Amino acid sequence: MKKKFSILILIVLFIACNANVANLRPHGSQTDTPELTRNNYLMGFLNEYRSSYDVTYYDINIDFNIEEKSIDGFVTIKAMALNDIDTLQVDLVKNLNIKKIIYKDSPIEYSREEDAIMVVFNQTIDKDTLFDFTVHYNGIPQSADNPPWAGGFTWSKDKNDRDWVAVSCEGEGARIWWPNKDHISEEPDSVRMAFTVPSGLMSVANGQLRSVVEKDDNKTTYEWFVSNPINNYNISVQIGNYVAVQDTFIKENKTHYMNHYVLDYNKEIAQNYFPQSKEVIRFYEKYFGDYQWWDDGYKLIEAPYLGMEHQSAVTYGNGFSIYNGVRSDSWAMYGVIDPLIIHESGHEWFGNSVTAIDPTHIWIHEGLQVYSEALYFEDKFNSYAVSVDYLKSIKSRIQNKISIVGPEDENYWALNGDTYMKGAWVMHTLRSAINDDPIWFAILKEFMVENAKSHVSTEDFFDKVKEKTGTDYSYFSEQYFYTPNQPELEYYQTDSSFYYKWNNVNANFIMPMGLLVNGAEKRVLPDQEFQSFEIRQHSKIEVMDWKFYIKKNKTR
Ligand SMILES: [Zn+2]
Repeated sequence: MKKKFSILILIVLFIACNANVANLRPHGSQTDTPELTRNNYLMGFLNEYRSSYDVTYYDINIDFNIEEKSIDGFVTIKAMALNDIDTLQVDLVKNLNIKKIIYKDSPIEYSREEDAIMVVFNQTIDKDTLFDFTVHYNGIPQSADNPPWAGGFTWSKDKNDRDWVAVSCEGEGARIWWPNKDHISEEPDSVRMAFTVPSGLMSVANGQLRSVVEKDDNKTTYEWFVSNPINNYNISVQIGNYVAVQDTFIKENKTHYMNHYVLDYNKEIAQNYFPQSKEVIRFYEKYFGDYQWWDDGYKLIEAPYLGMEHQSAVTYGNGFSIYNGVRSDSWAMYGVIDPLIIHESGHEWFGNSVTAIDPTHIWIHEGLQVYSEALYFEDKFNSYAVSVDYLKSIKSRIQNKISIVGPEDENYWALNGDTYMKGAWVMHTLRSAINDDPIWFAILKEFMVENAKSHVSTEDFFDKVKEKTGTDYSYFSEQYFYTPNQPELEYYQTDSSFYYKWNNVNANFIMPMGLLVNGAEKRVLPDQEFQSFEIRQHSKIEVMDWKFYIKKNKTR
């Protein structure tokens, strides 16, 4: 069944992430859908206390006590009232302490339930007015068990035993370290961040560095500014002995500045290694449209974990090696590109620019991302066969236990293995079903360009497919995204005929299938009853399961 989208979401009108499928995410695993807890209800559903306002700006101020692993800060939330507001919901994990909430210079009332804060204003805020309020808070934020898959703060030391701190929170939500309207559909128009750290350490965040202010207490405040919409979980901070590594990206006589940050002892190696990110950007621009964040720059930031797609501040922890990095050792990528750089940078398109409207549709970030890596190799080697080889190398990770898209409005972050690898295979299969490459590549590019800096659903993708092909592929979407079932082609041949049918499919499943008959491609339209065509005796018939994600079942 296709999911219907709630009216509420339509009125109000996103995410690492790497494919280590063995790691459980906080809101579900590969093999089960999550329990709808009270907190997931409060975080997942856009109730009237959340849909009544649209955040325009966050001003985040945090002082870090690295020794105690604690934070102390305040966040001003500026928003437009979409209705008259007396009470609204803002989100902060329950283990962090609220000191006070200020509206128009006065403390106001609030109550807390799970991670939700109900803020009660002392006067009605009129519809269509801009307003702001400030949450002062402190506490010890959660540490990351297995960043970035199980996120939080990573309090670590560099190899010279100096402090090195970073945060990752996709899935857990930015509310684990600062108060915000923590729903993937909500992005502010801009964000200011002022991170105060012990002098001697630098804090690096998203966007552009605006100022560095030395304070009296042997601390320094680094002020960063993001001038674009950004997902809450993409807002990040890294603290360490960083130095800048500068580079430029030149396109159509325009020079864009890239400003990477790495630990001081890795400056030289990064200078020689990070330029590959430019080839990555050129590839994504060719197939998926312009990089959207030059105002905020593009940078890689060395991090004490594998990596994450933080917008305009992609974190990198793969050891500066295409061959022997943390991840490239197991994910060799033909020795031509760092898997972290291509994967996390690609998310500047899939996830950061084009964002899922609900985290259940997050294959739009991860499935399209992994699929785009196959296209990178196809482009790089000018070889469809290499893209197929890449997809084959990841195929065994597919589980087919739960559907790629799950429940909406339940804070369900569908970051499981099938979202990545099956998502990529489903895109590859759709290309084969459409069987018209110019149309296929136009679908991908138009979908990304037309939806840049906005939110989309699975249905939106298939609307674009229908627009470009003139064919309704909802049967395809319903099978591959809303059931876990892998279509099976049952077949056999006799001296004179080849027989074939679909099993394990929805009643409406009508996907064409490719066969090689004595080396010549033949397309058939199987259904759930046997059909056949005549063949010569001893014909060699191959089912093209390298182009379609199907299971072969030869019965005789
Ligand atoms: Zn990812």
